[in-house]
Amino acid sequence: MLVKLIKESLQRAEVKQIERVSGEISKNCYQCGNCTAGCPVSYAMDIPPTQMIRKLQMGQYDDLVGSESMWLCLGCLQCYSRCPKSVSAASFFEGLRQMSLRHGEDHEKISDVPLPLIKKAPQQAIVAGFRKLVS
Ligand code: SF4
Ligand code: SF4
Repeated sequence: MLVKLIKESLQRAEVKQIERVSGEISKNCYQCGNCTAGCPVSYAMDIPPTQMIRKLQMGQYDDLVGSESMWLCLGCLQCYSRCPKSVSAASFFEGLRQMSLRHGEDHEKISDVPLPLIKKAPQQAIVAGFRKLVS
């Protein structure tokens, strides 16, 4: 696929906002792939951590909107512990989740959760499952 690099896409406001929210800088990643190799759920992600960061570097934010990966991330920080550049893919996923929620896009509805599960599971577990680290 041909990718056109233009100044506007490399300085997208959405990417800058995600960097502000996450406290991470996408250009610090040199695409070694260690984060994806160690991620326990990368096999199930449509856009794994290394690719997600690359898309941020390239300003391809639109590709990340609607991605399931941000909701699959467990927040286990294995990616961060393996990164030779101390980049936290988990924080980028957190930033993406926050952006989604700010735009009214959620991955689940509480009405979709079976009532017996709501009654049985601790409330904290349900809220954590919906929101991960998003505050
Ligand atoms: S481990 Fe770090 S440097 Fe390597 S691809 Fe992942 S975020 Fe980038
Ligand atoms: S924090 Fe998320 S992206 Fe990082 S290794 Fe764990 S599941 Fe994968």
